[in-house]
Amino acid sequence: MARLQIEAVSKKFDAEYAVREVSLDIADGEFMVLLGPSGCGKSTLLRMIAGLEEPSAGRILVGDVDVTDAAPQRRDLAMVFQSYALYPHLSVARNIGFPLRARRRPRAEIAQRVAEVSATLEISALLDRRPVALSGGQRQRVALARAMVRDPGAFLMDEPLSNLDAKLRSATRAELIALHQRLGATFLYVTHDQVEAMTMATRIALLNQGRVEQCGTPEELYDRPRSTFVAGFLGSPPMNLFPAVVTASDGHMTVMADGIDAALDISEDSGDATAVVAGIRPERLRIDDTSTDVRGRVRMVENLGSEELVHLESGLCVRAARPAGVRVGEDIACRVDPADIHLFDADTGLRLS
Ligand code: ATP
Repeated sequence: MARLQIEAVSKKFDAEYAVREVSLDIADGEFMVLLGPSGCGKSTLLRMIAGLEEPSAGRILVGDVDVTDAAPQRRDLAMVFQSYALYPHLSVARNIGFPLRARRRPRAEIAQRVAEVSATLEISALLDRRPVALSGGQRQRVALARAMVRDPGAFLMDEPLSNLDAKLRSATRAELIALHQRLGATFLYVTHDQVEAMTMATRIALLNQGRVEQCGTPEELYDRPRSTFVAGFLGSPPMNLFPAVVTASDGHMTVMADGIDAALDISEDSGDATAVVAGIRPERLRIDDTSTDVRGRVRMVENLGSEELVHLESGLCVRAARPAGVRVGEDIACRVDPADIHLFDADTGLRLS
């Protein structure tokens, strides 16, 4: 098992930075998820750690050993690819045993390890098949088994669930969490899927244009996003973000925007009126006729089964238990707890408090 240290790592392709001065300290046994939109540099960062791409600057350490210039097979890491990269002409057993054969391990040891990891992943019955005769979920397990067979210090995974259908993906998520707990190994996992990140990660590093925008527990990123980018990326639907004006006096702060009027209690006075971006999560707006906090006209109601998304003409979205009891065209009011209003700098997008 290994700690992974990434120190000011950058990667430039021609004139463009794909990864820019990223530093991450991933503790032994952590499940770290690299999350971010398409093209933010997640795969490039993972590939540099794996040794498949050379950094333009910075250092990479695995278990305190500097591996920046080491070949991939000398890094004590195992990679699981999105495509699984199984050898089509080899049986499942030979696919799984491949990394040990490449290291010229004795036959008996290979057979024993293949049997062990296959039992762990419940694929013992598939050992004689070829990859073509497997389902997507089974292929994914074979790829995992091949990564596990060597007992690597850390597992690197690049969107390993993206080829599975929704039901299998959610079952496999739960299996990966259990596997991580059982192995106690370090996992570094790339995805653009926030649900995968929120459910599996011990910590998430959210990347934006090659930089780490915020790194912390899923709860930290969701409850205290450090920028409008983080606030808008996590949550489905994402946080409502809207321009507002804040005025403070006598220890009270008032947030005002079109159709919104909420008083926040704060301990200090920030002085003059300030233009900000305010944020409220859809589930934190509560439909309540007696409230004067937020008002608006219903533009559309989306039925999600157990819940409804109520879209107001102002652009705000309210998440409510079904039936929310509102009709299109109706004027409604919502209550909001001041503690649920996030404020961001209007210019930089950074969190204010
Ligand atoms: P996705 O989720 O779509 O896979 P990503 O976050 O993994 O995206 P990367 O694949 O790391 O993003 O790419 C980051 C940036 O680097 C992109 O702008 C991409 O076009 C660029 N890039 C990646 N590989 C190369 C390459 N070999 N040559 C030139 N540019 C590249």
